[in-house]
Amino acid sequence: MKTFLITGGAGFIGSHLCDYFLKKGERVICLDNMLTGNPENIAPFQTCNRFIYTNHDVSKTIKVDEPVDYVLHFASPASPADYIKYPIQTLKVGSLGTHNALGFAKAKKAVFLLASTSEVYGDPLIHPQHEDYWGNVNPIGPRGVYDEAKRFAEAITLAYHRTHGIDTKIVRIFNTYGPRMRHNDGRAIPNFIDQALKGNPITIFGDGKQTRSFTYVDDLVDGLQRLLFSNFNLPVNIGNPHDEMTIGELAKLIIELTGSKSKIEYRVLPQDDPKVRNPDIRRAKEILKWAPKVDVRKGLLAAIEYFKQTQARAE
Ligand code: UDP
Repeated sequence: MKTFLITGGAGFIGSHLCDYFLKKGERVICLDNMLTGNPENIAPFQTCNRFIYTNHDVSKTIKVDEPVDYVLHFASPASPADYIKYPIQTLKVGSLGTHNALGFAKAKKAVFLLASTSEVYGDPLIHPQHEDYWGNVNPIGPRGVYDEAKRFAEAITLAYHRTHGIDTKIVRIFNTYGPRMRHNDGRAIPNFIDQALKGNPITIFGDGKQTRSFTYVDDLVDGLQRLLFSNFNLPVNIGNPHDEMTIGELAKLIIELTGSKSKIEYRVLPQDDPKVRNPDIRRAKEILKWAPKVDVRKGLLAAIEYFKQTQARAE
């Protein structure tokens, strides 16, 4: 049995990782300060004696008095609404938090995985985005707090790899969705599903012509575990290149799948909102033998089902 320490383990992706490794029979230590995590995400694991949860802000020193084999650093606000609300916490967890998690991995001689993001490409000038693209980020814009924190996190992760020989991995996660996203998460898919189920207006920012490519969380977790157990140390994009669509198309699809009578309302486009986003996944295909399997309609139906089941509790 191996021990996996997951920072942000009560968050959307973090809790799916806890679930995945517990189902494999491994031991999981989850650290989360619940800034944007949700205790309900980990409630089902609390009865398992291979699961330990500690309320901890990983921007502060991490102390765990037992051997740890893998450190998965997933703590961070990840929705633009959240990182604009918590700019300093976002910068701290991406910088100090990543430094602490790397120092901890070094002390434990553990393998380290950094959750990075397609946001390192900013508002990209090439399309689709390959890992060799350096990005187009406004460091002082509202999204800069997340983008630059993650860019720093990538830099320090590779510095620890090159200087201390730690076995580190970096995943650049593209827009991911699925069960366990918060109803008030603020990102397009949870917002639209929540609005559609309540019959409220669907809020499209800008003209809705901007594109995103959406990955179902199970596909992401499969890519993550392949990367974790690989011997590849440079960044790898994990995302679904097939399901690129405009936000207007996404809104219509969610209205159709929920059978909602919601109308569309147009709102101001937030500053520096990327116009396009689509992953080039040739590296993941070649090195990890990974490709996404879940088509967006099927994935959205699973997310909608989760939102229906949890709607009463979320209010
Ligand atoms: N968006 C929108 N309405 C919403 C939430 C988001 O039109 O209620 C847009 C947002 O402006 C962006 C896209 O949907 O162009 C994806 O936003 P999200 O917050 O999901 O993630 P991002 O890819 O921007 O990090």
